Amino acid sequence: MIDIQAIRKDFPILNQKTYNHQIVYFDNAATSQKPQIVIDTTNEYYLKYNSNIHRGVHYLSEKMTEAYENARKTVKSFINAKFQHEIIFTSGTTESINLVAFTFGEKYIFENDEIIISQNEHHSNIVPWQMVCERKGAKIKVLPLQYNGELDLNAYKKLFNDKTKIVAVNHASNSLGTINNIETIIKIAHEHNVPVLIDGAQGIQHQIVDVQQLDCDFYTFSGHKIYGPTGTGVLYGKEKWLNEMPPYKGGGDMIKTVTFEKTTYNDLPLKYEAGTANFVGAIGLSAAIKYVEIIGMKNIIEYEEMLFKYLKEKISKVPEIRIYGTATNKICLISFLLGKIHHFDTGMMLDKMDIAVRTGNHCNQPTMQFYGIEGTVRASLTYYNTIEEIDYFIDSLIKVKQLFG
Ligand code: PLP
Repeated sequence: MIDIQAIRKDFPILNQKTYNHQIVYFDNAATSQKPQIVIDTTNEYYLKYNSNIHRGVHYLSEKMTEAYENARKTVKSFINAKFQHEIIFTSGTTESINLVAFTFGEKYIFENDEIIISQNEHHSNIVPWQMVCERKGAKIKVLPLQYNGELDLNAYKKLFNDKTKIVAVNHASNSLGTINNIETIIKIAHEHNVPVLIDGAQGIQHQIVDVQQLDCDFYTFSGHKIYGPTGTGVLYGKEKWLNEMPPYKGGGDMIKTVTFEKTTYNDLPLKYEAGTANFVGAIGLSAAIKYVEIIGMKNIIEYEEMLFKYLKEKISKVPEIRIYGTATNKICLISFLLGKIHHFDTGMMLDKMDIAVRTGNHCNQPTMQFYGIEGTVRASLTYYNTIEEIDYFIDSLIKVKQLFG
């Protein structure tokens, strides 16, 4: 069970007022708050051990290198990767997807080839693939979305042909909250010998991820959405792909030997980590993961399911509420519009009542086009949110509705 009061004490930012009321932070899908241990760990490494990794023979550099490589170990065991060198540190989901799109595209995608992505993707799982298509003369095929926010897996099966080169879909949708049936999506793709990239930006912090059991070829996530520092992220890739794909960026650390005639590249994982890495960030990310592990993913899931059930019940009673995304399997996220009130107005009024939500298209313009809307208000909760906060949020929504008539 979750000790919510103890947990909230670990997140100093939650214990402050923005205007008059203690802040209600329901914008966790955009970025999550950081527990004290993450702040302390990053401080400690800057204060006591700051030194560049992998290149020094002195004490500080060795300490920092050891902590950085231990952070990789923490990520490896958190997602149950087979090898530590299958974990590549990046600056976030966006960079991880760009890395795969570019390097996989370089090696395996050619004219008239096809890439399957879903209709409900964040722009960072659309645009990198479009860029590959432009470069290589390939095409995007869209796995259709159904009105309730679930992907149409019957239509998906029909998208494959001998030109299909890769599938890229999200684990959980940041605009609708749907937890996609990635096990089936991966299985179907593999029946056609097609690899799958999972954009786990909204999955990793709400679900147990076991990349070997999932058998995904790539899994990407951002540190800042799982209570870690900004500018950190992970690309998990099966060893075979990471070995076969060419490097992404050139520079220090990613090479073995350099002459003006020829450069040889480093082994995994450094082959994909050119230049000075965000090593203190990665160590902070590992502190965030360890914090989550202490609470326990099972407890987190159970608590968030309880919160979501309560939120769904309460919000459905708010007059003139329209909820977008009613899939059976969802993270604790609600996208909605309130009567004829513009989503920005609802968000701004809620802000004045000390409630942080997100408004707009959530970097999912094709999803908004599908529903024929410009955007929604999005409340996204996590394990440090409470029933009391939901009650206050619902009362505030009703007030917003009354104010706008
Ligand atoms: N994919 C999804 C589903 C997201 O929700 C986000 C961010 O909101 C991203 C990708 C991009 O993540 P980042 O901006 O951390 O790289």
